[in-house]
Amino acid sequence: MTATIIDGKTIGQNLRARIAEETAALSQQHGIVPGLAVVLVGTDPASEVYVRTKSKAVTDAGMRSFDHKLPKETSQAELLALVQKLNADPTVHGILVQLPLPSQIDSSVILNAIDPGKDVDGFHPMNAGRLATGLPALVPCTPFGCVLLAKTVHTSLAGMDAVVIGRSNIVGKPLAQLLLGENATVTVAHSKTRNLPEVCRRADLLFAAVGRPEMVRGDWIRPGATVIDVGINRVPGEGGKTRLVGDVAFEEARAVAGAITPVPGGVGPMTIACVILNTLRAACARAGLPEPKIS
Ligand code: NDP
Repeated sequence: MTATIIDGKTIGQNLRARIAEETAALSQQHGIVPGLAVVLVGTDPASEVYVRTKSKAVTDAGMRSFDHKLPKETSQAELLALVQKLNADPTVHGILVQLPLPSQIDSSVILNAIDPGKDVDGFHPMNAGRLATGLPALVPCTPFGCVLLAKTVHTSLAGMDAVVIGRSNIVGKPLAQLLLGENATVTVAHSKTRNLPEVCRRADLLFAAVGRPEMVRGDWIRPGATVIDVGINRVPGEGGKTRLVGDVAFEEARAVAGAITPVPGGVGPMTIACVILNTLRAACARAGLPEPKIS
């Protein structure tokens, strides 16, 4: 069997086009233009690229983008003051503080200061708690994108055996909660899990969010399973260059799986699309309007 490739780039573009339509309707019917503020502290090149990509996606969707670039010496008090200003600004519906932050700033203090209604990253404990208790919430973008990708293969995930490798607060745990919300039977594996290959072989849906290049081998995968690879790992490539690989050994896995995401071009583009989807959702919620009917 050769797996179907789940084309996150195209799926993400289609999602962004639907978000743009809903954004235009929101603006025409209610005079609301969703706005996303992105805060970057310092000059980390990878973060700068990511922030630029996000800002472009926001403006392409017809939303307002407010970029705040602060020097790497910025104090925690200065960053807190900016977050509070953005919390109070009615033109800002979503706030995203790019991580990692410099060492003089405690990220949890900053993330917890963001108004939960503007927390488009879904990292605030209020949103994590709402997700865990099945209440409407702004949910972390990468897990949100993973579930949307799985649902392009299976119209319903109900009753499926899902294995999530990784239990971070930004990917593994919220992904497990979202899958429970879809009525999947969920196993969360991590570095202390015994016999991980055997656990993975139980999965109809396998999600790898580890950060270890090509850790998941072809013989860990149940024939026909859907594999969503969250990992982004830079490894040495040809001619002294580097290349990106996921947490799954792609060529081995595609020979066994039913469907699989590539890296790059799988989960990454969906994360960006879900940032703007969350901004639209936040703008609708703030105006007391129903959830946009997308996805
Ligand atoms: P973390 O480092 O926070 O978490 C990694 C998880 O993997 C931990 O729960 C850890 O277990 C588990 N783990 C580590 N080693 C093993 C092992 N040998 N066997 C089983 N489990 C293991 O990473 P993140 O969740 O932040 O990110 C995971 C990957 O996803 C990274 O490659 C990251 O770059 C990528 N990523 C991609 C995004 C995208 O947009 N595509 C967005 C966010 C992340 P334990 O808890 O026991 O330590």
